[in-house]
Amino acid sequence: MPEAQSPYLSLQRSEAEERRALLDVLSYDVTLDLASSEETFESTTSIRFTSHGGVTFLDLKPAALHSIELNGRALSPGELFRGRVSLDTAPGENELVVRATMPFRNDGEGLHRTIDPADGRPYVYGMSFMDAAPSVFACFDQPDLKAPYTFHITAPTDWSVEANAPGTQVEPGRWEFETSQPLSTYFVTVVAGPYHVLRTEHDGIPLSVGARASLTEALERDADEIFTITKQCFDEFHRLFGIRYPFGKYHQAFVPDFNAGAMENPGCVTFRDQNLYTSRTTRGMRVWRASTIAHEMAHQWFGNIVTPRWWDDLWLNESFAEYMGKRVTVAATDYTDAWTDDSYARRQWGLVADQSPSTHPVAGNGAVDAVAALQDFDGISYSKGSAILRQLNAALGDDVFLAGAIDHFTRHRFGNATMHDLFESWERAGGDLSGFADAWLTKAGPDAITYDRAAGVLRRTPPAASPAERSHTFRVAVAKDGAWSTETVTVSSPETPFAPDADAVVLDPYNDTWALLMADRDSVRALVGLLPGIADDGLRAGVWNNVRSAFHNARISAQDVVDLAVASYPVEDSEDSPRRTIAWLHRDVLPLAGGEAVERVHAATLDKLASVPRGSEEQLAAFRGAIRSATEPAELRGWLQATPDGIDLDDDLRWRMLTKLAQLGAITREELQAAYQDAPSAQTKVSLTGALCSLPDAEAKAYAWSVFTGEVDLTNYEIDAAGAGLWRGPDELVRPYVERYFAQVPDAVRAHAGWGLADAVEAFFPSGAVDEETIARARDVIASEGLDLTIRRVLVDQTDLLERRLAVRRAFPV
Ligand SMILES: [Zn+2]
Repeated sequence: MPEAQSPYLSLQRSEAEERRALLDVLSYDVTLDLASSEETFESTTSIRFTSHGGVTFLDLKPAALHSIELNGRALSPGELFRGRVSLDTAPGENELVVRATMPFRNDGEGLHRTIDPADGRPYVYGMSFMDAAPSVFACFDQPDLKAPYTFHITAPTDWSVEANAPGTQVEPGRWEFETSQPLSTYFVTVVAGPYHVLRTEHDGIPLSVGARASLTEALERDADEIFTITKQCFDEFHRLFGIRYPFGKYHQAFVPDFNAGAMENPGCVTFRDQNLYTSRTTRGMRVWRASTIAHEMAHQWFGNIVTPRWWDDLWLNESFAEYMGKRVTVAATDYTDAWTDDSYARRQWGLVADQSPSTHPVAGNGAVDAVAALQDFDGISYSKGSAILRQLNAALGDDVFLAGAIDHFTRHRFGNATMHDLFESWERAGGDLSGFADAWLTKAGPDAITYDRAAGVLRRTPPAASPAERSHTFRVAVAKDGAWSTETVTVSSPETPFAPDADAVVLDPYNDTWALLMADRDSVRALVGLLPGIADDGLRAGVWNNVRSAFHNARISAQDVVDLAVASYPVEDSEDSPRRTIAWLHRDVLPLAGGEAVERVHAATLDKLASVPRGSEEQLAAFRGAIRSATEPAELRGWLQATPDGIDLDDDLRWRMLTKLAQLGAITREELQAAYQDAPSAQTKVSLTGALCSLPDAEAKAYAWSVFTGEVDLTNYEIDAAGAGLWRGPDELVRPYVERYFAQVPDAVRAHAGWGLADAVEAFFPSGAVDEETIARARDVIASEGLDLTIRRVLVDQTDLLERRLAVRRAFPV
């Protein structure tokens, strides 16, 4: 059997370097006709470039290639092979004109086209990131061949069209755009459709926001807040950097089926439109939206004015945007608790990634090709990198930190740079980075720091695979007789004397250093009594991070965690994100806790629900938790009839309950379909798919499976929901899919690509099959030759989680 492979070649770093040495791109002129078909669009690209003369290649992923002309001479369209066309360039200036029909895609990449289930209207947006630009226009697709772009777009007459540069509708359905600043291919975008758009202005920058027509009400409700945050952040970035935003207008498009949280395209940022709330939401979600807005704005400087030369420096983009985004959110907006939220939402993402066998240094991830690099958009590049930059800021001082950044933006304006260029900028600004990079940036893995109560020491254990000499200075919170105090310690040797008279010790609750800080079991037991009384949100977040890290390393039992959760139900975890505490409790802890754990947690949730203020977001969060832990259909049916006083039934809550009823086998397909028909939307369609796949019968599981194999073609959100649904149900029903998964997973490249591939492989992974047999089977596939790198990476990470769950089960049998 031929090896399963992607239809396209992935750009190798060495190829990018050769092409960069040969070419300078002068300009792109791109004409798109989005009105000619629902499946495809016409794309004509004219590229002017200079060459030293010689053979190179163009990137192109068309549905049909009509013509290629290089310097007026026609090349054979038959030259196209796996996404590339070989070109023999002339010394000096060249002009290339390519006419092609391109596919609209439905996986959130290239030009994504979707029909809104709410009203049947079509929406298009571009996501060129990583390697998708050649499915929109012919290009030399690598970050360091920047050029200005001029777009000409034909679209249906009732559409609005946005691109990176400002544009005008010159006649009905025909749009002309100004020539942009030099852009990398990966951030070229177009957002087109009957979007509802609102406009304002701030400090000379035209601002706008847009969303699907069916989200008009949500957009109108939140536009003021979004604009206010945007203005506050622009002011703060201008104050900090002293370099003005250079891309003209700033449009923020909320778009459907978006894979990432958002994408920083200069002048035209795209966000997943779940960031506009059609149902009631919580502060956790709004903090996340505010810091995402700020994160994408930080990229306008770091990433867009100066762009990494190659994907190995993607951490510079993401760590910097993550750090500056949080910092500016705290400094300039009402969301002054963004760092605490980060502690709940992001810290474990980074720590878990850094403990996985797939860990890599923050800097220099060694990305050999573009597709492999996508897998490093992980907790290390975001969460750990941000933490390290925060430490660097503390070490250099803010003046030097900012002066170095400004030097970097000025020297490499509209160009590309590497990590070493930035380090040189910091050194020019007076910073001393000797030792820092070695200790924190170029070595993988965290030091483990634990409190040995019996020996009266703090122990530091560097990661065995990549040891480094690191010194950690951080605060420790100590409880004695119910009173908390904080002291600062420095840990720079394997053992540091530390013997407080304490009932509980919480290491580094405020994330002063990057390390794996694990609670000792005595502290966890003491915290059962103490946690309910802790009013400091930062300390509470720190407690949960200590506890989660200890559990991840089998130092405490699932029962220990449940005892803590029952004593103080973690509703500050107010959003339904897999990285947060409640989701983690349900996914990772409860399946190992045995006995009456779910019932105990449910009872604690109901107590919480009854004790928090009516109408508060805490109440909403507690109610969402109660739906999650409910096991009695009658209780859920009762809530569908009448929600607790202070909570209105909305689509989000309704579908949480319907999905739970489906999981319990207490609802029919017909009732689910009817509920969907009652309020069809993009969101409820995803919920419907999840609910249908959650039903405990063979038909439901077969359907979910057909989504994985690609037999049924759904959006990426629905694929995720189907994967989660597949594994819900009695063991005899789902068990056969464990072997089917491992037999089939190498071929997932035939059905899924890019983000969708990684998502599908993860969503369908049998994470509930905590046994040796499954782990052995996973290891076999990981070791098999020719396995796609994206698939291997996901399998390695998921198998590590499985092994860690098995370790807990072994250490603490129930
Ligand atoms: Zn980013």
